Amino acid sequence: MRRLMIGLMLLAFCSPAQAEQISPVKARGIAMAQAAALTPPVKPAPKKKIKKKKKAAPKGPPAKELLGSVAVPAPLAARSIGAYSKGCLAGGVALPINGPDWQVMRLSRNRNWGHPRLIDYLERLASDARAFDEWPGLLVGDLSQPRGGPMLTGHTSHQVGLDADIWLTPMPDRILTDQEREDISAVSMLKDPFTVDPEVWTPERTKLIKRAASYPQVHRIFVHPAIKKILCQQAGAKNRRWLAKVRPWWNHYYHFHVRLSCPPGIAGCANQKPVAGNDGCGTELKNWYAMLRKSEIWKANHPPAPAKPAKPAKSKKRLKRVADLPKDCKTVLASGGHDPSATDPATVPVALRAVASKDAGPPPPRLDAAALLALMGGKPRGMPLPDRNPTR
Ligand SMILES: [Zn+2]
Repeated sequence: MRRLMIGLMLLAFCSPAQAEQISPVKARGIAMAQAAALTPPVKPAPKKKIKKKKKAAPKGPPAKELLGSVAVPAPLAARSIGAYSKGCLAGGVALPINGPDWQVMRLSRNRNWGHPRLIDYLERLASDARAFDEWPGLLVGDLSQPRGGPMLTGHTSHQVGLDADIWLTPMPDRILTDQEREDISAVSMLKDPFTVDPEVWTPERTKLIKRAASYPQVHRIFVHPAIKKILCQQAGAKNRRWLAKVRPWWNHYYHFHVRLSCPPGIAGCANQKPVAGNDGCGTELKNWYAMLRKSEIWKANHPPAPAKPAKPAKSKKRLKRVADLPKDCKTVLASGGHDPSATDPATVPVALRAVASKDAGPPPPRLDAAALLALMGGKPRGMPLPDRNPTR
């Protein structure tokens, strides 16, 4: 529009009567301006879309099948490689299945492997808790697989040998048989989805988790929000700093999950952000309770479908391959002469999945109908489920 106006003004100026008075140079300039004004603006040629070549998805069996079927550690120097939920473990060490103050549960899973930093920590915690906190001994659940990495069932983390699940059930005063370690169920600490059962929870459990959080190498501890709540109540007014490390998370109601920080000086081990300094008993816990309530309402509106004996549902998610993990995990997988190509995807994972899928504890409690109705304010209605990742 502006160009058109200039053009019209120039035309008016350049009427033949005036043209004689204009110098040739000026005239040429005016002519060019006229031409520019009257020519429709040239549209820039559309940019050619450069088609990005899709990166070919790495082939081969999923990483969880390969790493989940190696029964022995990688004979390399101990190293946690990658991130808690995307990595592997070199030089894994087994926590002995029986110690003076601990016993390992669910032996068939072969998940009592960790970085030596984790094994040292567990032995020390078991001994200190018995000596100072009247806790008779630890029942230890999953650590990592011999070479870490993703698992066929259960956790998304526990991949680098720095995570451990510890039951909130005390160790009995006798050595359990292998079969008992498969069959005994951990005890739920919850009375309902929001509340710890006062008949089950004892101050010794608070002391145990406080002890577990007290070592400098502990990065975080995960517990169900209701457990965090009771810890907040029982912690006392002084020395509440340890509570900062204890974080609410879904489904940790019969065990707690200890996560150690990366051993110092290890390249390629990815720590999480350090926790904020406050005890997390205020706004954070309040927000978790809001999520718990939403989750209960969502569950009420989405009752589980009746189990079908038919074929397993196909997930659309592309499963991680070893090539998706840090590159040293390929070396970890193949070290010690292990041949990953010998893994028969048709048989091994099925058997492994069967043993590994046994839950260690009871299913989460559900609200009864009256409590649910009260929670919904008398009006059952759909609500979006908050982001949740039940397994760690
Ligand atoms: Zn865990």
